[in-house]
Amino acid sequence: MHEHDVVVVGAGGAGLRAAIAAQEEGADVAIVSKLHPVRSHTGAAEGGINAALRDADSWEDHAYDTMKGSDYLGDAPAVEALCKESPEEVIQLEHWGMPFSREEDGRVSQRPFGGLSFPRTTYAGAETGHQMLHTMYEQVVKRGITVYDEWHVMDLVVTDEDDPADRTCHGVVAYDIQRGEVDGFRATGGVILATGGMGQVFDHTTNAVANTGDGVAMAYRAGVPMEDMEFIQFHPTTLPSTGVLISEGVRGEGGILYNEKGERFMFEHGYANNDGELASRDVVSRAELTEVNEGRGIEDEYVHLDMRHLGEERILDRLENILHLAEDFEGADGLTEPMPVKPGQHYAMGGIETNEHGETVIEGLYAAGECACASVHGANRLGGNALPELIVFGKRAGHHAAGKEMGEAEIPTGRTGDWEPAEYEFEVDVGAVGDRGPAAADGGAVAADAEGLLEAEIERARERVEDLLSRKGRNHAEIRSAVQETMTANVNVFREEEGLKQSLEDLREAREAYTEVAVSDPSRTFNTDLIHTMETRNILDIAEALAMGALARREFRGAHWRKERQERDDENWLKHTLVSWNDGEPELWYKPAILEGEAKTYEPKVRSY
Ligand SMILES: Cc1cc2nc3c(=O)[nH]c(=O)nc-3n(C[C@H](O)[C@H](O)[C@H](O)COP(=O)(O)OP(=O)(O)OC[C@H]3O[C@@H](n4cnc5c(N)ncnc54)[C@H](O)[C@@H]3O)c2cc1C
Repeated sequence: MHEHDVVVVGAGGAGLRAAIAAQEEGADVAIVSKLHPVRSHTGAAEGGINAALRDADSWEDHAYDTMKGSDYLGDAPAVEALCKESPEEVIQLEHWGMPFSREEDGRVSQRPFGGLSFPRTTYAGAETGHQMLHTMYEQVVKRGITVYDEWHVMDLVVTDEDDPADRTCHGVVAYDIQRGEVDGFRATGGVILATGGMGQVFDHTTNAVANTGDGVAMAYRAGVPMEDMEFIQFHPTTLPSTGVLISEGVRGEGGILYNEKGERFMFEHGYANNDGELASRDVVSRAELTEVNEGRGIEDEYVHLDMRHLGEERILDRLENILHLAEDFEGADGLTEPMPVKPGQHYAMGGIETNEHGETVIEGLYAAGECACASVHGANRLGGNALPELIVFGKRAGHHAAGKEMGEAEIPTGRTGDWEPAEYEFEVDVGAVGDRGPAAADGGAVAADAEGLLEAEIERARERVEDLLSRKGRNHAEIRSAVQETMTANVNVFREEEGLKQSLEDLREAREAYTEVAVSDPSRTFNTDLIHTMETRNILDIAEALAMGALARREFRGAHWRKERQERDDENWLKHTLVSWNDGEPELWYKPAILEGEAKTYEPKVRSY
């Protein structure tokens, strides 16, 4: 068993920043990651990082844009922390050597991004995430922070008191992918989950195959609610055949969207008369699909994104990476022809419920980055707001876990304050199949001491691996495909009651099939069949919570469109959705959004661009 003060699970932007912050506070930190740090998906981020750096800009304007973008479901203390602290974090990255793109006068360049009232997106060509990841990994190496890479964390080690608010997290159990062994990591100070996105719940996604939402599912099974899971961002410009992203930076630089008739539909069909292509992502995605559904799409599937008019010099300077992606994956030469694009799953606004310090309801358990929901993005994230979230909230979680005094948080976690139970009755069974109770909780048991608890959990995890390897049964791949297909068909950009109910039925079948899952590859080293099988369980838990939240929310807010009620309903729905696992029985409840900030109260307004 390994022991450290702080154990960070995940080595993307959030995990690396959290580890550096904890180390700055004097903690002995370790990072445990299923991928080598620089293979983390942060490296795929292209467009940039929002930060109010110029005199003519302000964090207050950034906060206003973020809250409007969130369709008033962001929590003001988190939104304001993001906007206030992102400038100093960007400057910190620059001091660590991140090679930002620059103007002639030497200042860091900034470009416009969707939904922003000021061009405040800083970038490093079209490879911002790659540069950010490498810059922070250099710091991790320089500081001698221990990294255990190619360790797949299977579960959290958490005590099992009835009320999650009384539980404590003592560490994690993980599978060493290289050696095929299970071991434990005890964390005396705290565990920080920074496990990234969950795009593999869908089959057309910009996310990597490793983005299976493991941390969210682990925290959920240990008793932390998942928050606002129904709010999934579908990015308007992904390549049709693969889901590979074409950055919003293309539209930020002046790229134009056309339908089959050659119409600039964002203006000509009145979707966003002021901002056109640079409206918020949810608006542009719906516009594209409406064009396709009304017969104005190309090959009944996609629209065109044209950047030819920007000229070769500017494209090569600022968007060179995009040329390679379009050429390699679609055979399109962006210099001489438009690129085919359509909406694809891109980002999860929801995730592990935390406050603005990254704390969850369980003592000693934190979350930061895309797996967490503080909530900064509410019902829709603005492009360029995820990377600052990683560094601002990664740093905050790292500091807190290492014992830094940070004052009382304003955002409540767990069932405190004005929470209310959901009234919705699901027609289909949800949650664990078969016996419920402590065995379904996967959250551990109450043991005499932390070490005893860890030993018990390591043993349980070993038995699980041996069982998966020795039994005969169904392959995970067919179950995973069934989940992805139903989620893409029924819980996509446009959602309606019938389809959402269908998705829950299909997910039930998939859950039942998973009780018979087995691993056919017996190898002990680099057994990807085994890892994917464990990940598929996580995908199932997440997909179900997502579909439950989407079915119960009968309104149209941000990325969540409902056929039955095509308008925002602030009277009934200005609230966050939460799903708690409750020893195998998912329970839906709500808590109000916090709109009172330090700068102002963000009164909900009609959201137009
Ligand atoms: C193609 C693309 C482009 C984007 N462009 C931008 C942009 O320009 N600007 C912007 O603001 N946002 C952008 N985003 C969003 C943003 O990049 C992501 O939200 C962010 O990088 C996620 O960072 P993270 O640290 O939370 O997770 P990741 O970078 O995905 O890292 C997750 C880490 O967790 C580890 N992990 C996961 N599960 C386990 C497990 N079970 N055990 C051990 N380790 C585990 C992984 O190994 C990995 O190290 C983009 C997203 C995509 C997909």
